[in-house]
Amino acid sequence: MCQWDMINHLVGCLFMSIAERVLQVQQQIRDHAQGRSVTLVAVSKGQQPAALCAAYQAGVRDFGESYVQEAVPKLAALAHLSVQWHFIGPLQANKTSVIARHFSWVHGVDRERIARRLSASRLEAGLPPLPVCVQVNLSQEPSKSGVSLQALEALVREVALLPGLRLRGLMTLPEPTSSTALQRQRFAALRQEQERLIRLGYDLDTLSMGMSGDYIAALAEGSTIVRIGTAIFGERINT
Ligand SMILES: *Cc1c(COP(=O)(O)O)cnc(C)c1O
Repeated sequence: MCQWDMINHLVGCLFMSIAERVLQVQQQIRDHAQGRSVTLVAVSKGQQPAALCAAYQAGVRDFGESYVQEAVPKLAALAHLSVQWHFIGPLQANKTSVIARHFSWVHGVDRERIARRLSASRLEAGLPPLPVCVQVNLSQEPSKSGVSLQALEALVREVALLPGLRLRGLMTLPEPTSSTALQRQRFAALRQEQERLIRLGYDLDTLSMGMSGDYIAALAEGSTIVRIGTAIFGERINT
């Protein structure tokens, strides 16, 4: 790239609209998904409804929110749009009922107690089983959410039995690294866990992995859902 091309490129990035970024991410997904069908979840935490509308107009039909209190009014404001809401944040016991009623997917199931509560709330609400992923902590950091690799199979066994949930697969949120090799190594580890569980008889069709900084690597390792925030909406200010 010559100097002027580079400057043009940077200016273009600064002024690119949400719609243009959505198209760019969708193109990257097509280029790297190896023919799989991959769901783009636009992570809209910290964004105003107008930003979500712009993404919707560009074709986004799945949005990801992390905080119940922030999400519920937004869901109400955008109730006229036909979208699927994914809950991707940490799960608290006192929020499971609201989540089970308002969301179409939950990505971060990592404890049996929470899974039971979600299942019970879903049944109480008379809604069909809630699609969920079990979140796996691959780096084994004690502070992070997610079940350890050692405890994964036991949790999967419990979640698969709950009548109000439909266990779809695994999710991970690795700590950021710019090393593509390291990114791929972690995502490959999640895929290997999925394959192992499938051999044990579990019906898992989903790998929820890949964010703005690492989704190309995740797609190369078999991701079926990518969760993209900043690459679509720009840097978050408040969250
Ligand atoms: C915020 C968040 C994302 C999106 O992160 P970006 O780097 O902005 O793409 C994805 N997944 C989870 C669980 C998140 O909390």
